[in-house]
Amino acid sequence: MIHKFVEYIPEDLEDGVLYVSIAYATVVHKCCCGCGNEVVTPLSPTDWKLTYDGRSISLYPSIGNWSLACGSHYLIKNNEVIWAGQWSDRRIAAGRLLESLEKQEYYRESYVDPGQEESGNEETDGSNIVVLL
Ligand SMILES: [Zn+2]
Repeated sequence: MIHKFVEYIPEDLEDGVLYVSIAYATVVHKCCCGCGNEVVTPLSPTDWKLTYDGRSISLYPSIGNWSLACGSHYLIKNNEVIWAGQWSDRRIAAGRLLESLEKQEYYRESYVDPGQEESGNEETDGSNIVVLL
């Protein structure tokens, strides 16, 4: 694949091009399996992370297109597509659950409830949440 740094994601995407918009913290590409679907990977502390080494880009974590008919799953590392295994439905469900828990955790940490600081002896660190993968 090749990458293109753009401000706005173009309407017509080319195959094999990763469109990176730093301004909108988004990476868009056409599904690597060739199905033609558009795959949007937002960049944020709880979504994807982009690494640019001056020549190529990598995205972390892997891209799982569960909502597309193809269900493809791959990793983009140094502009190369590394195919990952298909996940079972159970694994997908567990992954989604974990992701939503991570988001809850993240937003809870960054939100300080003024009423809670005074009474603050009730601590929840999420250790009572068990996720079976
Ligand atoms: Zn596809």
